[in-house]
Amino acid sequence: MKTIKDYIRTIPDFPVPGIQFRDITTIIQDAEGFQLAVDTMLDLVKDLDFDVIAGAESRGFIFGAPMAYQKHKPFVLIRKKGKLPGKTVSQSYDLEYGSTEIEMHVDSFPEGAKVLLVDDLIATGGTTEAMIKLVEKLGGKVAGVCVLIELPDLKGREKIAGYRLDSAVTYEGE
Ligand code: AMP
Repeated sequence: MKTIKDYIRTIPDFPVPGIQFRDITTIIQDAEGFQLAVDTMLDLVKDLDFDVIAGAESRGFIFGAPMAYQKHKPFVLIRKKGKLPGKTVSQSYDLEYGSTEIEMHVDSFPEGAKVLLVDDLIATGGTTEAMIKLVEKLGGKVAGVCVLIELPDLKGREKIAGYRLDSAVTYEGE
């Protein structure tokens, strides 16, 4: 039987030299692969108590939405600045070069809601940390973070120490 890693394609030197890009298009374009990815992520959080799933644009939507549908939970969007039409709260964070901003609608969930954050991949954890800050600004409690892929060399787990992080596969020293 094929494993998750069997479906993930690695593209060297994308988008810049030295980066091993972990391409998830090859897992979602295969029906078995897509189901394996979502089912594995659901299994990782099966003991977790949460009210809502928040997914990060754009690859977080791909995995977060089917997880929410399967669990019969609401799904809310974390988007790049300027994309959400309603009243938003925003959070900026640093990238390798410069900075960026992500946003959520202020009415995404009721105050005190337990939020599961979903994304495709955690590298440095900068994006995940910004997502956590957004949820907390809105009065939510981060129940956990679930990603398909973790790159432990980049120490994202340490950046969000104190929060639960579940990952389906890791690439270390590869
Ligand atoms: P970071 O903020 O460093 O944890 O990076 C988070 C986002 O950058 C992830 O949601 C990915 O979409 C993307 N990303 C970073 N590094 C890689 C990589 N090696 N392969 C694929 N995507 C990556």
